[in-house]
Amino acid sequence: MNQPAPDWTARAAALRADGRIVIDGQRIASTDGQTFDKHSPIDGRALGAVARGQVADIDAAVKSARAAFEDRRWAGKPPAVRKKILQRFAEKILSAKDELALLETVDMGKPIQYSLAVDVPATARTIAWYAEAVDKIYDEIAPTGANALALITREPVGVVGVIVPWNYPMIMAAWKLGPALASGNSVVLKPSEKSPFTALRLAELAVEAGLPPGVFNVVPGYGHEAGEALALHMDVDAIGFTGSTRTGRRMLDYASRSNLKRVYNELGGKSAFVVFDDFADLARAARTAAGGLFFNQGESCNAPSRVLVHESIADEFVALAAAEAPQYAPADPLDPASTMGALVDATQLRTVLGYIEAGHSEGAACVTGGRQVRAETGGYYVEPTIFDRVANGMQIAREEIFGPVMSVIRFKTEAEAVMLANNSVYGLQAAVWSDNVNRAHRVARALRAGTVHVNQYDEDDITVPFGGVKQSGNGRDKSLHAFDKYTELKTTWLRIDGG
Ligand code: NAD
Repeated sequence: MNQPAPDWTARAAALRADGRIVIDGQRIASTDGQTFDKHSPIDGRALGAVARGQVADIDAAVKSARAAFEDRRWAGKPPAVRKKILQRFAEKILSAKDELALLETVDMGKPIQYSLAVDVPATARTIAWYAEAVDKIYDEIAPTGANALALITREPVGVVGVIVPWNYPMIMAAWKLGPALASGNSVVLKPSEKSPFTALRLAELAVEAGLPPGVFNVVPGYGHEAGEALALHMDVDAIGFTGSTRTGRRMLDYASRSNLKRVYNELGGKSAFVVFDDFADLARAARTAAGGLFFNQGESCNAPSRVLVHESIADEFVALAAAEAPQYAPADPLDPASTMGALVDATQLRTVLGYIEAGHSEGAACVTGGRQVRAETGGYYVEPTIFDRVANGMQIAREEIFGPVMSVIRFKTEAEAVMLANNSVYGLQAAVWSDNVNRAHRVARALRAGTVHVNQYDEDDITVPFGGVKQSGNGRDKSLHAFDKYTELKTTWLRIDGG
C-alpha cells in the first residue's frame, strides 16, 4: 500500500532543530554558552539556537580529533572494517532521509523535492562510494633494483579541518568527509552559520553507525570566529575548504600564519556556456542553460551564469531560455511541486538584487524576471532573471552573483567565443554546444576550466573529479583523486643483503 505523502508544512511547524556542538560523539553547549538564533529563509521562522563556536570550542574539537588519530582507534582499523562502518553510515543517512531533507530545506531554502531526490541520496552515495574504495586501493613498490626495496605508501594526514558553505550543505561536507574518513583521518567540520543543522545530525549518525567518537566532530559558528580558529589551529594538518574565492584567499593566509597546513580550496565560478550556430537542437541547449542556472535558486558554484551565444541565433536562444523561466517561478519550498525556493538570507537577497540593479544601470537588457517576489511570506525570493546583450566587462559578467541571474553575451567568431569564455578570473566549469565534432573538441581543449561539458550540462557523478583552475581553486573533490588531499605519500627504504 502506498504511504500518504508527508505533510512537509506540518512537519516543519513541529521541527525543533538541535544546534549544539558534537564533540566525542556528545552534544554539548559552547564553552561560554553563547548561541545565535537561526531563522529559515523560507518565511523567517525561528529554527533554533545554534552554538556559537569560538577558539576554545575549536580547540576542544581538535584535541578530541587528535587523540582519536593518535590512538589509532580509527586509522588503525583494518580497511575492511572502516569500509563496513562507513557503509553503515551511508545507510543511516538514507534511513534519515525525510528528517535530513526537511532540515536542509528549512535551513537554506531549497525545494523539498530536491533535498529528497538529490541532496540526501548524493550524500549517502558519496560516503558509500569512498567506503567501498577503502579496501581496493593498493600502495606501490618502486622499481629500484636488487639490493633495496622502496615502499611508497599513503598515510592519512592526521586531523583535517573541513569548512563548507550553505548551498549544498550535506553534499559539500560529504565530498570532504568521504575521502578524509575513508583514509583514516579525524575530522573537525565547521558548517556554514547559514546552514548548520544537517552537518550536526551527520555527526550523530556517524557515531550510531560505529564511527569511534572523536573521529568526526562538528563545531558550528561564524566564519570569522570558529572558521578562523580552525584554519589557524596549529594542530590541524589540512584544510578542505569550499566557499567563496574571498574566503579561500584567507585560508592560504591562515596557513602561512600558522603551521603551513595543506589548504585545498574549492571556490567560486562564473562558468561559460558557449552555444554555436551549428548546434541544431537550440531548444535543448536553452532548456539546459536555464535548468543549470536556475536549479538551487542559482546558488551553485558551477551554474552556467555566462551564456555565450553566436549572434545569428541569439534572439531565438534568448526567447527559448526566457520561455523556460516560468517553470522556475519561486514557490513555497515545502510544496513538493516547487522548483525554485528561497535565497539563503537577507544578505544574499540584497546581493542578488544589487547585481540586477547593476545589470540595468550598465545597459544590459532584462528580458525576464528581475524582481523580488513573495516578500509577504517573510522569506527571500527572486524571479528567474535573464539579461541579454551583456558585455563581458560588465559587473554581471565578471562577478559571481550566486542567484538566479543569467547573463547572455553575443559573439561573432569561434576565436572570440574562446577569448570571452577564458576572460574570467574563474575556471570552474564550461560548456561547448556544437554539432561539429572538430569544433567541439577544439573548443573543449581551449577552454580553461576544471570540467568542460560538450552538448550537455547535466552529467555529474562521484566517479569524476570536481574542481577548478585559476581562482576557482586547487585540488579536486570526488573520484579517487580526492584521496590525494587527505593522504601523504611516504617512502620506506629497506636494504636487502645477500642478493
Ligand atoms: P563563504 O566563503 O562566505 O563561506 C564558506 C565557509 O567559510 C562558511 O562555513 C563560512 O562560515 C566560512 N568563512 C567565512 N569567512 C571566514 C573567515 N574569515 N575565516 C574562516 N572561515 C570563514 O562562502 P558561502 O557564501 O558560504 O558559499 C558560496 C561560495 O561557495 C560561492 O562562491 C560558491 O561558488 C562557492 N562554492 C564552491 C564550490 C566548489 O566546489 N568549487 C561548491 C559550492 C560552493
